[in-house]
Amino acid sequence: MKKVLMGNEAVAYSLFINGVNVAVGYPGTPSTEVIETLKDFQDDDFYVEWSTNEKVALEVAAGASLAGARTVAAMKQVGLNVAADPLLSLSVVGVEGGLIVFVADDPGPHSSQTEQDTRNFARFCNLPVFDPSSPKEAFELIKPAFEISEKYKLPVLFRMTTRVCHSNQSVEFELKREKRKIKGFRKKPEWVILPALSYKKHMELEQKLQDMKKELSVYNKVEGKGKIGIVTGGVSYFYVKEAIKGFEDLFSILKITVAHPLDEELILEFVKDKEILIFIEELDPVLEEEVKLLLFENGRIISTYGKRNGYVPFAGELDVDKVKGIFYKVLSDKRFLMKNTFTDVLQIPKRQAQLCAGCPHRNSFLIVKYATKGQDVIFTGDIGCYTLGFAKPISTTDTCLCMGASITMAQGLKITDGSKKVIAFIGDSTFFHSGITGLVNSYYNRHNITICILDNLTTGMTGFQPHPGTGKKIYGEEGRKVSIESIVKGIGVEKVLVIDPYSDFTQNVDKVREFLNNDQLGVIVFRRECANLKSREGYFKINQNCLKCKVCLNVTGCPAIDEDENGNIFIDSVLCKGCGLCKNFCPYYAIEKVMENE
Ligand code: SF4
Ligand code: SF4
Repeated sequence: MKKVLMGNEAVAYSLFINGVNVAVGYPGTPSTEVIETLKDFQDDDFYVEWSTNEKVALEVAAGASLAGARTVAAMKQVGLNVAADPLLSLSVVGVEGGLIVFVADDPGPHSSQTEQDTRNFARFCNLPVFDPSSPKEAFELIKPAFEISEKYKLPVLFRMTTRVCHSNQSVEFELKREKRKIKGFRKKPEWVILPALSYKKHMELEQKLQDMKKELSVYNKVEGKGKIGIVTGGVSYFYVKEAIKGFEDLFSILKITVAHPLDEELILEFVKDKEILIFIEELDPVLEEEVKLLLFENGRIISTYGKRNGYVPFAGELDVDKVKGIFYKVLSDKRFLMKNTFTDVLQIPKRQAQLCAGCPHRNSFLIVKYATKGQDVIFTGDIGCYTLGFAKPISTTDTCLCMGASITMAQGLKITDGSKKVIAFIGDSTFFHSGITGLVNSYYNRHNITICILDNLTTGMTGFQPHPGTGKKIYGEEGRKVSIESIVKGIGVEKVLVIDPYSDFTQNVDKVREFLNNDQLGVIVFRRECANLKSREGYFKINQNCLKCKVCLNVTGCPAIDEDENGNIFIDSVLCKGCGLCKNFCPYYAIEKVMENE
């Protein structure tokens, strides 16, 4: 069959066809669709779950792999930081059934706190890494990734970037699953990592990397015969192909699909007759550094152009125009001539990121903001929809670092700036991911902070995945529901308040103000289903009382409220979710509710 697949879907289809038995992950853009697609496949030897975080996911995958199952743990690049501990140990302990660690990098970044490059993790962990350029190539590389993992008994990293994850391509395949017999767990001393064994295994690991180089190098390729050598990989390969159109004779391309370990022979053969080398890669200069080191070790002197000498930007995504610009800059200094073929790029107007209309987090933030008015308060934020609490006019997020850090950073701030109230905001899924340990620490060490858990009963930012607090499993079937309040109280926290952020705003402000009265460790759970998950009862409109003071607009920042060219304020009846927040701020009673069928 022929099917147009998104990069992440292509990976999921190929994983299933190639007999993956256990698929686990934690949602995070741009990786989420791998598990989302896999969950639509069913078989008696296939299990899929959303795990509590990436470390948990990889450890579940590792256990299944030791029993001989083919497994995948899927995550985004920052998730790999969370899973780094088991990954590094697994590179030493090894695996049994093929284990692919799928990691989606986010050059730009589009929706991440870092631009880190997973190819560096491969070097750091001494593991092979595949770096496909397109959905079709990703589909084709899953099979060898499993085979390499099983042959060398090592996890294999499968790194893609946003543009490969989210672009579409036609892929031809037979939807026939490879059935494998799972041997089951066999006890072996080498599964128990001890220092002496670790040393021995490290030596073996280095040897394995040497051994697999040639085998992996068949996935790299050389194109063209020109004197200007371009070393590239991932999606940058296609930018290069596009950029050199019409000038192909000048160039030759070394496309690196397996970024670690690199085959030295192939590279030395490639550079043999080249006059200059240009490195086109996103994020870190991984290929550039490896190749330059190899050239140095082999006494080969050649002009190189890349990130290290400022020709290629270190940060952000590349695109065809940027690559053309790089070639033009390099070649205009040289005897090679090339017309500047820049084309006009469509400029899309910038839009400030903001919470959706009717998002209950907007109400929660404003309740806390009004309850602490006039006080010196530090607000620590976390990763999720509610990161947008930093945006004006809400402005209740002073820090944001990584998953779970709102709670722990609040403690650090309280220790050093104790006179101030410190209030941490975290979401429900993030609380389960890594907020719990921070809460234990604040209880144990008597850090008197307030933790606001913004519970919208889903993982909203990545597309409404369930989590332990929803009690639903990946297919929506019943799991066991984990109560946030029970965890909080079970740890020993006595001060706990549960609030519906959609209920009476003034009363909620009073309740929170009273709650914050004394400086004790306390937890407020703001609970209201994500506005995009529930149909509304009605919506709000502006009536003739409006004096255009714009208070509703300026206080809430709700994207459903706007102003026309004559300065008239209106509510977009399609966008409005009927939360009623804006009504609380209108001094002229000019905002009124309309029931859905009126
Ligand atoms: S009721 Fe007001 S604040 Fe709520 S979604 Fe509608 S316009 Fe926005
Ligand atoms: S707060 Fe009331 S009066 Fe002021 S612009 Fe909004 S609807 Fe009009």
